[in-house]
Amino acid sequence: MLQLTILGSGTSVPNPERFPAGYLVEVDGVRLCVDLGPGVLRRLAAVGLDLDAIDAVLLTHYHTDHCADVAALLFALRNPRYHRRRPLVIVGARGLRTLIDHLTAAWPWLAPREVVVEFREIEPGMHRIAGAQVEAIAIEHTKESLGYRIGDTLGAVVALTGDAIWCDALIPLARGAELFVCDSAFPTANPGVGHMTPTEAGRAARLADAKHLILTHFYPECDGYDLIAEAAAEFDGEISMARDLAVHSVSPRA
Ligand SMILES: [Zn+2]
Ligand SMILES: [Zn+2]
Repeated sequence: MLQLTILGSGTSVPNPERFPAGYLVEVDGVRLCVDLGPGVLRRLAAVGLDLDAIDAVLLTHYHTDHCADVAALLFALRNPRYHRRRPLVIVGARGLRTLIDHLTAAWPWLAPREVVVEFREIEPGMHRIAGAQVEAIAIEHTKESLGYRIGDTLGAVVALTGDAIWCDALIPLARGAELFVCDSAFPTANPGVGHMTPTEAGRAARLADAKHLILTHFYPECDGYDLIAEAAAEFDGEISMARDLAVHSVSPRA
């Protein structure tokens, strides 16, 4: 069983309809949050999930629009209502420990109290995280950026780039994926630094033979452009614009 819920399809620029980055991936009964931008905890509440329900948080990189709610999460977990929850795993590339140490130095009340939180720095490669099979792939954006490829036991895959610029690693990341969630932050006619366009997302989806491309992380420059048409010029599979609180379920492979 594989299901993706978009928690935040937006960016650092506030938008009432699009929270900063956050995605819930449910795979064989394990719930993973990929990125936790500011406000994403509220989105989890909106889909009816308390913090008890989350098994692991996977961070793609440490830009604040992707991880600010880690601080909010650590503080919330000190609430006595969570004292019986199982350990929570927070995963990221090199730098996670430094980030948490600095946050905790500024806000000592982030230090876990009764809930056990495991901070795990990972390298690119295959990992077992809270029982889920996750491949981390180095993606060009910041020097520590990771994309994640998460598969269920039947072989279905959701792949998420995090923020990205065009790079060869996008192809193995998205190879054959049922759902490919790809940075499409700026329109092709007005590209931005450090991000992809829908044209590039479509090209990556085509070269990777992905099934369903979900464009995401829209800066205000995207307003007024037909991003789906831009991606469709490169990719003839299914294409969607990410929308906060949208749910995408993958049916089992035949
Ligand atoms: Zn971002
Ligand atoms: Zn970024």
